[in-house]
Amino acid sequence: MKDIQALFPIQSYNDRPLVIAGPCSAESEEQMLATARGLARNGVKIFRAGIWKPRTKPGGFEGVGSVGFPWLAKVKEETGMLTATEVANRQHVEVALDAGVDLLWIGSRTSANPFAVQEIADALRDSGVDIPVLVKNPVNPDLELWIGALERVYNAGIHRIGAIHRGFSAYGRHIYRNMPQWHIPIELRRRYPALTLICDPSHIGGKRELIAPLSQQALDMGFDGLIVESHCNPDCAWSDKDQQVTPEVLEVILDALVLRDSAVTTESLAMLRRQIDGLDNELLEVLNKRMAVSREIGRYKKEHSMPVVQIGRHDEIMQNRVKSAEDMGMDGDFMRTVLSAIHEESVRQQIEIFNGGK
Ligand code: PEP
Ligand code: MN
Repeated sequence: MKDIQALFPIQSYNDRPLVIAGPCSAESEEQMLATARGLARNGVKIFRAGIWKPRTKPGGFEGVGSVGFPWLAKVKEETGMLTATEVANRQHVEVALDAGVDLLWIGSRTSANPFAVQEIADALRDSGVDIPVLVKNPVNPDLELWIGALERVYNAGIHRIGAIHRGFSAYGRHIYRNMPQWHIPIELRRRYPALTLICDPSHIGGKRELIAPLSQQALDMGFDGLIVESHCNPDCAWSDKDQQVTPEVLEVILDALVLRDSAVTTESLAMLRRQIDGLDNELLEVLNKRMAVSREIGRYKKEHSMPVVQIGRHDEIMQNRVKSAEDMGMDGDFMRTVLSAIHEESVRQQIEIFNGGK
């Protein structure tokens, strides 16, 4: 995916990130137009609406289907906004392209399925149209699967591609509807810096009040834009009502966002970074010393026919180190993760000794 291009010539406007907004689902012409008018007044340039809805269980509202396309066309004609919808198979692509939709996205349940993504990619190639396509992360936290979906679309001749982070399903109840595992989109950005990265705070949070903090977090992490669910009357929405806001509330949220300027690097920031570089080197030195001692212990255990892992000792280390870390103001879970990784490497090195290593 070497020559990925910007999604649109203008990525942001009025000191705002790229914003795609609109209802979870198209419900009626009135609902679409009322929502679109409010959004257009606030300067939103791209209108989203789900025409076909992937529902977890049968029996829910599965979208209005193709009757919604003339409504989308009206939105475009009246407000001048570009329009966007979700596609999940070849027929969706063909109907949406025929209807003149400007941007397509592939939903999370679909991007987890290589057969479905390939079918969509084939339909895009056959259409010969150069339309921007956004690929949501798969429901499961699998970066390679996400990249695979992006590549399938790219290989079909689509070069304006964006990735949407909408969080990952997790079993049980959590504050988020879908857990934001930020390191995954950030690794995606590291590998493909030109890819447009968009955050979907509505589907991550699942609640109106989480839209603002999640949006700010995304911008702080260098995301290019947001896709937010907005409905003229959220309490009566036919799907995802808890996570939709009116266009007026969305305007307040967008106005409060602080856009960071990634190009500004001050001298004091450079100095702090040098400190971090130095501290990281010290960390490496200390870890290396610790591994040398672990190997020494490995030799001792081997000589005395002792097993590599002694559970009691590991539990004791965990408990008192985590406690010390918490006393210093660090997060206990963070320290457990660090200590487990160090322990795993120590065990690996001791096993090497057992297998005849030095
Ligand atoms: C949507 O954006 O309406 C949608 C269905 O999202 P997701 O694929 O993230 O669940
Ligand atoms: Mn939704």
